[in-house]
Amino acid sequence: MQRSVAAVIWDFDNTLVDSRAKNLAVTRRIAAELLGSWDRYPMLGSLDAYERALWRTRGWRDLYRTELGMDDALMDEAASLWTGYQIADSTDAPLLPGVQEALAALSQLPHAIVSANSRRNIDETLERHGLKERFRAVIGYEEVHLRAQKPAPDGLLLCMERLGIDGQGVLLYVGDHEVDARCAANANAVLERRGAAARVLSVGADYGRSEGHEWGFEPDYRADSPERIVRLVESFAAEQAGPVTRM
Ligand SMILES: [Mg+2]
Repeated sequence: MQRSVAAVIWDFDNTLVDSRAKNLAVTRRIAAELLGSWDRYPMLGSLDAYERALWRTRGWRDLYRTELGMDDALMDEAASLWTGYQIADSTDAPLLPGVQEALAALSQLPHAIVSANSRRNIDETLERHGLKERFRAVIGYEEVHLRAQKPAPDGLLLCMERLGIDGQGVLLYVGDHEVDARCAANANAVLERRGAAARVLSVGADYGRSEGHEWGFEPDYRADSPERIVRLVESFAAEQAGPVTRM
């Protein structure tokens, strides 16, 4: 098995950028539009409540269903509002500390993004940070069927195909939520069924999470800073990577 890393695929929200405040603002606006108001929903009351709700749910549909009581039809409507509201909202979504440096240190590798956010919003954010050229592919929710978002492996597999590494090679999928680690595991199950030699290793972006949140599904590796991801890639190149799950 080839042990060097062929590419790094990143989740977007709270892995590359701190978008919690912006996503809360957009979610409040969607709730106001579709449900009449946002202030009667506890999870929309504060950034802290919103973040706690993110951790106890699996992906945005689960969040909207359990916390806002939306049915599938309303969630589809919410999805159709998301991109426009993201673009219109001016709340800052800064790069997480160390991300810029890690991308520069790993510039010899292809990078890509697989996210449940909108591709247009991601592209605009990357452009603003001068990072658009760093990413060879950006898979947003629009590229994948609404009912096949993470943790379903469709987006990740599509991204591998676009990078031309769906046949063989090891790639990292970095994400701050257990849904990302589950997505990587689900992609591996499909690759195995296909008889493909490629494998995805999940890297938990602990630096994008607040303290005190447990992983309900443990990623293969965990990084407490983007710098650790650089070290991880280097350890693969040096064929020193062992079966450690914590760094
Ligand atoms: Mg995320």
